[in-house]
Amino acid sequence: MFLTRLECTECGRACSADRLRRLCDACGLPLAAAYDLDRVRRAVARDDLRRRPRGQWRFAEVLPLADPAQAVTLGEGDTPLLDAPRLGAALGLRRLLVKDESLNPTGSFKARGMSAAVSMAKALGARALAAPSAGNAGGALAAYGARAGLPVTLAMPRDVPRSNRLEAEACGATVNLIDGTIADCGRWIGERAEREGWFDLSTLKEPYRVEGKKIMGYELAEALGWRLPDVILYPTGGGTGLVGMAKAFRELDALGWLEPGSPRPRFVAVQASGCAPIVDALASGADRARAPARPSTVAAGLRVPGPIGDRWMLRDIRASGGTAVAVDDESLIAGALELGRLEGIFACPEGGALVAALRGLAASGWVRPEETVVLFNTGTGLKYPEAFA
Ligand SMILES: *Cc1c(COP(=O)(O)O)cnc(C)c1O
Repeated sequence: MFLTRLECTECGRACSADRLRRLCDACGLPLAAAYDLDRVRRAVARDDLRRRPRGQWRFAEVLPLADPAQAVTLGEGDTPLLDAPRLGAALGLRRLLVKDESLNPTGSFKARGMSAAVSMAKALGARALAAPSAGNAGGALAAYGARAGLPVTLAMPRDVPRSNRLEAEACGATVNLIDGTIADCGRWIGERAEREGWFDLSTLKEPYRVEGKKIMGYELAEALGWRLPDVILYPTGGGTGLVGMAKAFRELDALGWLEPGSPRPRFVAVQASGCAPIVDALASGADRARAPARPSTVAAGLRVPGPIGDRWMLRDIRASGGTAVAVDDESLIAGALELGRLEGIFACPEGGALVAALRGLAASGWVRPEETVVLFNTGTGLKYPEAFA
């Protein structure tokens, strides 16, 4: 066990990791897992990791579970990092790569976070699980809950993509449809969780989903020979993927696993113009996001008007020298179709948004032709028949 404690991402207060916890007791903001990285460095050599059985649990020393044999897993992680030479040429870029998260169980990167969080919740004694979800998180929690043998209750917006709801119900979850957005669903779960005995796995309201997602950053470094790319574009909703990878890169630095001279990536948070609180906050220099009045987009994973991790995300984007870009629904669908046509990757609308954002950044010179750029296709287009129809 290399996990030592949890630390508040805002006030820095530490607390023990030996029981179920959600937010910081002092300030009510997200907690993050801290590891004894000196011990990790002595216990494992970075180049040994690739000889272990495939999947994200081969990075067990930097994951929270004491005994990785107890992991609740469906084979998540170790997704391909694909060259995208035709799309790169269309955008004037020499080295464009796509980390294709659509190959995860349940068709999105949400599987990574739920594997880690459900494993820890079960190990620490949770008897029932719950979460609000605008889309893929619900299906993933339903699947991992079933795998763990724990009942799952979800609250989803009434207009959630049909496939997300069907998947959740097929995996045995109880789905409650709520009028409103994920924020309203979050309130619905929050009002009932304690009384019903549910452990609430809302985005960043427990510390371990981000630990699963950060492994995307470890896999990326390993695949590139322990060097990082110059630029990462990430479709940003609640922000766990982004803050998770930034955390992974800090840990890699502390572990001394990166090659000398490796770039530190600039993060580009890509949002839908119908719901772009992080883009607005960055543009106005704010350290908190303001919820849009009528959040709307077909990219369900990006319809997160009031993310609890707003300060954390804004800090990491700014510290990386990054930026944030909003893309309208027509352009994000067009971007997904371009990825399909040029590279054979049928991306989710969230992933499609990255293509449109990158076109603008390449045209303006913010991304230079010789830079290595990675797009994270966070899920499969197959789960969005309504949006593509
Ligand atoms: C949830 C989701 C996102 C947003 O991810 P965060 O890490 O919460 O910002 C992006 N794309 C897809 C497909 C998603 O399901």
